[in-house]
Amino acid sequence: MKAEIVAVGTELLLGQIVNTNAQYLAEQCAAIGIDVHYQTVVGDNVERIVSALSIAAGRADVVLCTGGLGPTLDDVTRDALGRYVGAELVMDAEGLRKIEAYFAARGAVMVESNRRQALTLAGADVLPNDTGMAVGTALRHEGKLYVLLPGPPRELKPMFERYARAWLRANMDGVQPLFSKSLKFAGIGESGLEHALLDLIERQEDPTIAPYAKEGEVLIRLTSRAATEAEAFAKMAGTEAEIRRRVGDHLYADEDVSLDAVIVRLLRERGATLAAAESCTGGMFADMATSHPGSSEAFLGGVVCYTNGAKRVLLSVPPELLEGENAPGAVSAETAAAMAEGARARLGATFAVSFTGVAGPSPSEGKPPGLVYMGVAEEGKPTETRELKLSGSREIVKLRACRAGFYELWKRLR
Ligand code: ATP
Repeated sequence: MKAEIVAVGTELLLGQIVNTNAQYLAEQCAAIGIDVHYQTVVGDNVERIVSALSIAAGRADVVLCTGGLGPTLDDVTRDALGRYVGAELVMDAEGLRKIEAYFAARGAVMVESNRRQALTLAGADVLPNDTGMAVGTALRHEGKLYVLLPGPPRELKPMFERYARAWLRANMDGVQPLFSKSLKFAGIGESGLEHALLDLIERQEDPTIAPYAKEGEVLIRLTSRAATEAEAFAKMAGTEAEIRRRVGDHLYADEDVSLDAVIVRLLRERGATLAAAESCTGGMFADMATSHPGSSEAFLGGVVCYTNGAKRVLLSVPPELLEGENAPGAVSAETAAAMAEGARARLGATFAVSFTGVAGPSPSEGKPPGLVYMGVAEEGKPTETRELKLSGSREIVKLRACRAGFYELWKRLR
């Protein structure tokens, strides 16, 4: 199946916004087995949108439009599709009820134009908008598929993932859609993973096995063609079991979630808490630990103790560790341990993780960039430290150190 993405919006033509929706939809189409052959941008003008739709329908099976579903007069995408296919605009009762309820709840006046956002086309399926007002439209007409999605990415993405994707898969006549499953790994690099799975990757057919590496995290995507998700997952089961048998020790999730999100969930499930003592990571670990709904049940707090003075005053790191001729110094396992213990004691957490090191790019205290000591203090257990030799820019060293901290916690919590 071939698709064309038509992004509607004069702002796009003027260069005021970047067409990230096209990038997002292209990736999403590829993931379900629809090939995007063309991408078009057109302004908020009915005649020109009709002309873009006519060109797109002449060379694609699927036309995906984004933008122009809003309440104002220049939002004309649905009018243009209606004109092109000869379908009348009709009001979606459920969509209208939601818009009315929104204004009623805020005691705001609803003007006539707001009703426009509940308009769809006769004979079309409505795609609900869970994060905004304008409903989406999915229409099959003369063997072609048309999907109208809102412009704001925070509305477009949930609508696509919750409703449009399933509609497209169900309407892909004669072609089986693709389904994917993500396996996420930590504590193993892309090359280590590839090495362990080399023979599987070499003779892959169905499912296909694709490794992707991000900073400190590796993902394997299994992909299969099937009529339904259950059938696709059944086809993947044997391969997944073999992957689990070989590298299951590093597998932390069978969906595309971050390790920090998994740690927050595991801490909450166990009723455990976390604290942080951060020097070289400058608060990044705390930022990651607080990025998830429910973080407050698990993360008690953290200290950014960048200087020796801060390490002493805020975490009671003994001065003899930090200064003096034979002192191990700020960048040392001893200091990392004292920081973690100081944070855990101050906050009464189950776990505390600390980082002290050289983010780079230049050496510090005669120690090379990328050298980071991490401490992990756990209630009722001796404190442990790790020496990390990380590479990359300053930001990447910080990120990799934080990921190593979450990996250490995962080993203890899983
Ligand atoms: P609204 O209900 O907000 O009017 P809409 O469906 O009418 O939504 P537009 O008016 O076309 O959408 O765009 C609204 C906003 O969505 C834009 O100001 C922009 O921030 C964002 N947006 C629109 N199109 C794109 C795009 N192709 N890529 C990224 N962002 C976009």
